[in-house]
Amino acid sequence: MPSFLKPTTLLLTTTLMSILIQSPNSLPTTLLTHPISTHLRFDSLSLSAASSDFGGIVHSHPSAVFLPSSPSDIASLLRLSHFSPHPFTVSARGLGHSTRGQAQASAGIVINMPSLDSSITVSTDGMFVDVGGERMWIDVLRETLRYGLTPKTWTDYLYLTLGGTLSNGGISGQAFLHGPQISNVHELDIVTGKGEMVSCSESANPDLFFSVLGGLGQFGIITRARIALENAPKSVRWMRLMYTDFELFTKDQELLISIKAEGEGWRLNYVEGSLLMEHSLKSNWRSPFFSEKDLKRIKKLAYGNEGVIYCLEASFYYDYHHGRNFSRADKTQMDQDIEELLRKLSFVSGFAFKNDVTYMSFLNRVHDGELKLRAMGLWDVPHPWLNLLVSKSNIMDFYIGALKGIILKTSKSMGPILVYPTKRSKWDERMSTAIPNEEVFYSIGILLSSEMNDLEHLENQNAEILKFCDQQGLNYKQYLPHYTSMEDWKKHFGKKWGRFVEMKSRYDPKAILSPGQKIFAHPV
Ligand code: FAD
Repeated sequence: MPSFLKPTTLLLTTTLMSILIQSPNSLPTTLLTHPISTHLRFDSLSLSAASSDFGGIVHSHPSAVFLPSSPSDIASLLRLSHFSPHPFTVSARGLGHSTRGQAQASAGIVINMPSLDSSITVSTDGMFVDVGGERMWIDVLRETLRYGLTPKTWTDYLYLTLGGTLSNGGISGQAFLHGPQISNVHELDIVTGKGEMVSCSESANPDLFFSVLGGLGQFGIITRARIALENAPKSVRWMRLMYTDFELFTKDQELLISIKAEGEGWRLNYVEGSLLMEHSLKSNWRSPFFSEKDLKRIKKLAYGNEGVIYCLEASFYYDYHHGRNFSRADKTQMDQDIEELLRKLSFVSGFAFKNDVTYMSFLNRVHDGELKLRAMGLWDVPHPWLNLLVSKSNIMDFYIGALKGIILKTSKSMGPILVYPTKRSKWDERMSTAIPNEEVFYSIGILLSSEMNDLEHLENQNAEILKFCDQQGLNYKQYLPHYTSMEDWKKHFGKKWGRFVEMKSRYDPKAILSPGQKIFAHPV
């Protein structure tokens, strides 16, 4: 008998029979009769949850959802697939914040990673935290802050899993200083596509370690990551400065990321920026920051500037948990230093805004925006996001041709458009993520959502932007990339492609893992 089950031919328990009836695609007998089969779910609720994601555009049905209670359950599952004559695909799903089906597995098995529910362990001596790959960054923040410690670098939104962001990069306004999240990992525990459980680091199994970082889930499933920590601040001076000129805005951003961080106490810790469009100021999930009165002034400024202005965002951390007490004199000094810095910048006079907030509320700022959008029914809508990394030398071309020439000309859609510079030297070349080959490059997030039946328009707009970048030969890469042909993937990875394929053949030769990325459809 072939190792694929046919419902009529098997003598199984009643439970298993009911499972099979609901599982017409059939999975190998070796899996369905294995003790770990009790972790499989075939009900429509589980299947439909695993068939969609935050993007709301791609929907593919798995045959089953797997609820592991330990990494060894995952290893057993992957071994069963790897050694089967008919391997089934397997995708780790963190929280499905992907936008193009990257965590889905059509007719395969989706692993519901949060089922692992592992603990978080902080080492104050080692200044690191051990975290399960399924845990959210918000959990890591809450736990490390109990010790007055914190990871150094973040994503804007913290309800993402470690496994999910470490498979991509993990970028936010701290990346110019500390690099992306993947640059701040000491060790990983991985279950490879062959079902082997391997610990790796820069010195132990470095091939696997660097491949997995930014590896789009292609080489193994991250079950534990050891993340570097630093002393946590208690407070953040959070600034927003308005510009009517894109070039001045980017020049100032570049100036700010070139300032060397020095010593203890306060320093520039975060630099981002975004386009503020008059029509979408209210429904921007980039957090409520402005008072109603300021919002009115900002809208007016945008109105007088063809409907758009540029908002530079910078933050300074101060008053550290393990530092000396932050005195009134320290605060006065900080105010003076910031004033001096602001004098060097070219924002519109009278349009500098500040908030002093706790470190937690600063880092968790997007969650406030999420709650606001949820209440307005604007969160669970399609998100045809396009994220790009564009070299500094091409940022004005990109602005003129893509932002001004395409988006601002036609789009009345809602959502933020992020633009901020970061530094290549903070990334390790051995990691899988493809980035532009220039020291300073910009992270561009065109994070528009489709709320007015304009999905097709937004998709066309994205295609037009990519076409523009290609035709002009811009030095850019997609971040959270989405391609469907091997040729495009090859081009995306460039010089890293050969290594990517070699590592795939070493760690997941049967192309079992993360099929939703659409990189390898066949064994390598
Ligand atoms: P999923 O979508 O579940 O998975 C993503 C990919 O990783 C899939 O291929 C999956 O198979 C694989 N994967 C998941 N878990 C594991 C694991 N344990 N081991 C191996 N592979 C795994 N990104 C940034 O860099 N910066 C930001 O500021 C940022 N802001 C965001 C804000 C919002 C509101 C949203 C929705 C997303 C944002 N992202 C940002 C993108 C985010 O990094 C990706 O969506 C990422 O995939 C994390 O989502 P997730 O944990 O739900 O992973």
